[in-house]
Amino acid sequence: MAKKLSVVVSVYNEELGIDQFYQHTSSILKETSDKTGWDYELIFVNDGSRDNSLEFLRKYAANDDKVAVINFAANRGHEAAMIAGIDYSTGDGVVCMDADLQHPPESIPGIIAKFDEGFDVVSMIRTARADAGIFKRITSAAFYKVMNALSGKTKFENNSSDFFAISRRVASVLKNDYRERVRFLRGYVQNVGFKKTTLEFEASARVAGESNYNLKALIKLSLNAICNFSDVPLKMGIYAGVVSIIAALILMIYSIVQFFLGTAPDGYSTLIVVLCFMFGVLFIILGFISEYLAIIFAEVKQRPIYIVDSIITSKGEELK
Ligand code: UDP
Ligand code: MG
Repeated sequence: MAKKLSVVVSVYNEELGIDQFYQHTSSILKETSDKTGWDYELIFVNDGSRDNSLEFLRKYAANDDKVAVINFAANRGHEAAMIAGIDYSTGDGVVCMDADLQHPPESIPGIIAKFDEGFDVVSMIRTARADAGIFKRITSAAFYKVMNALSGKTKFENNSSDFFAISRRVASVLKNDYRERVRFLRGYVQNVGFKKTTLEFEASARVAGESNYNLKALIKLSLNAICNFSDVPLKMGIYAGVVSIIAALILMIYSIVQFFLGTAPDGYSTLIVVLCFMFGVLFIILGFISEYLAIIFAEVKQRPIYIVDSIITSKGEELK
């Protein structure tokens, strides 16, 4: 039987560029299907768009029997959308990509070739990003440095992206066993094991519209990722405590000696500096503990990762 590729595309307010994405990607998928014999399905996940994206997607599903749409009841974020697409997909391989053509569909034949060679995970590595300034580049590099330093045995590919491909086996693992509310999907993809390879791609500029990831969202993603893969920040308190005790002992001995020499200094400034420093350390540690507590809280609540409003099947039927 012919193999099938599921292409999962998360869509949030993409009305300006979605047509171009759909036309371009479909034509490449058709061509690739003729060449490789891999059938395909195109799964759009509408992540609570507030513009007309859903109308565009409805139209595609009605006219194209390769297209299905999962329509969220509310915005749940890019990762939740990818997870929903993976859950729903039925292909032998699944590719997750953005709807703004920053992830070139031209890479798809290469991905299929890797699947045919027997790979289970294909991480797509960005070699250039047309729209990223120096700030984004530096922070992104720093993020991966910190991640790799803190996460012990698990290692993360530099410049990996939300553009990746996984086999059915990996998709099943994600569907059944990685159901965390606070998560770092591309980290999971890289660390589930199986036969893994990388391909490179050049990220072009967005076709239309604006990026939805602002600085705040990026900080949140990074913090979640670190707390998800590492417990080093949680143990920071122990190291900070040991260092403070040693410093305190040294200061104590120094003060006693000064007292007997009759030259005990006026301690106001020293006190203030030490106090501020200690409280600073204490609050940072407390902040990290709260961060883990918040993660535990989110997991314990067991709320769903996403809520589906309707599904539009490849036959164009809308199921509520
Ligand atoms: N996206 C989404 N939900 C969100 C934000 C973004 O599904 O809450 C989608 C968006 O439509 C796009 C992809 O995730 O397909 C990447 O988003 P964006 O291009 O804004 O991020 P960037 O490429 O700048 O990192
Ligand atoms: Mg983008």
